[in-house]
Amino acid sequence: MTSSTRPLLNRRLAEFGTTIFAEMSALAVQTGSINLGQGFPDTDGPEEVREAAVRALRDGRGNQYPPGPGIPELRTAIAAHQERRYALSYDPDTEVLVTAGATEAIAATLLALLEPGDEVIAFEPYYDSYAACIAMAGGTRVPVTLRPHEGSFRLDLDELRAAVTDRTRLLLINTPHNPTGTVLTREELTAIAELAVERDLLVVTDEVYEHLVFDEAEHLPLATFPGMRERTVTIGSAGKTFSFTGWKVGWVTAQPALVSAVRSAKQFLTYVSSGPFQYAVAEALSLPDTYFTAFREDMLAKRDLLAAGLADAGFEVFKPAGTYFITTDIRPLGETDGFAFCRALPERAGVVAIPNAVFYDHREAGAPFVRFAFCKRTDVLEAAAERLAKLRTQ
Ligand code: PMP
Ligand code: GLN
Repeated sequence: MTSSTRPLLNRRLAEFGTTIFAEMSALAVQTGSINLGQGFPDTDGPEEVREAAVRALRDGRGNQYPPGPGIPELRTAIAAHQERRYALSYDPDTEVLVTAGATEAIAATLLALLEPGDEVIAFEPYYDSYAACIAMAGGTRVPVTLRPHEGSFRLDLDELRAAVTDRTRLLLINTPHNPTGTVLTREELTAIAELAVERDLLVVTDEVYEHLVFDEAEHLPLATFPGMRERTVTIGSAGKTFSFTGWKVGWVTAQPALVSAVRSAKQFLTYVSSGPFQYAVAEALSLPDTYFTAFREDMLAKRDLLAAGLADAGFEVFKPAGTYFITTDIRPLGETDGFAFCRALPERAGVVAIPNAVFYDHREAGAPFVRFAFCKRTDVLEAAAERLAKLRTQ
């Protein structure tokens, strides 16, 4: 331990503390609560995909360092997925990079593309690693707040335009959006694309919930919009789509110069990861459409179950068009401080949730909102709804 008075944690990271997900999952374990906080499923993904990982491990595939950009089978499967779903063609050798989850993809992309002082525009509330990675890269985050409007959180395009300055380097987009469940519409994405072209901005788009869109919502990758393919880094992840969040297999698709830049940073972060799991995810990406449809339908039923439970308990519910999170407003329960509410919730109802304020720079704008994850077994969601119903009478 140094005796200097200088703090050990550097200035760039000092504001971040422990992630809310770790804090709230620990609270759930400590109090024996139902954990609707951290977004991970409580059942594993398809058996055949798990078996594919076992086979790879036993056959000695991926037990030593895989190739830096990812195994060819997985890069080919990622490119085929983008082609089949979205008619986006990427060369598996030069335009696809496998990462240690979307988390590393975000980190490597920002570390590669930002110079100190560059501004990054991100929608607020933003996924927590965005802020930390922008800071580690020496960038400045410029939040544009999504605001409640007729039952969902929407982007104000004028505010977005006004946030762009001569120092703006990139737009960091997330659709479907965690934590609000907003799915950007064709009109919104068109406007974002036009702005990026007009101001010559790079775009990083986090699409890890691409397969979780409900009702009439449609996932439209930003890279498909005019002028975007060459300036967009698209980030995906197997964690959400195949319910294996612990495997940490993510990826980047972009034009060769962008992939090459991201790889420059990635090679010094993990170099490679998840060897045998890469083989399994290559198989998972080739599952028939019936898998993706059944997965979405299952999550849709879970969304409706938890949304109804939350509404019955007295929350205002923002029904998500995508992701596996529901954002609620706690003010109808007579509460205004999401942090205090979430810290007390295990005791009051035996349930853990996430205060959305942690995803805001303007904390007051996020204060009354609380996020619940519904990627849990039906009986768990039913039990949570029953417990939360107590709030009405407390
Ligand atoms: N982006 C968003 C929006 C997320 O919610 C998450 C968390 N799952 C990630 C990235 C990180 O994904 P991964 O687990 O693949 O690192
Ligand atoms: N993406 C998950 C969530 O939003 C958490 C991932 C993590 O714990 N870093 O809940």
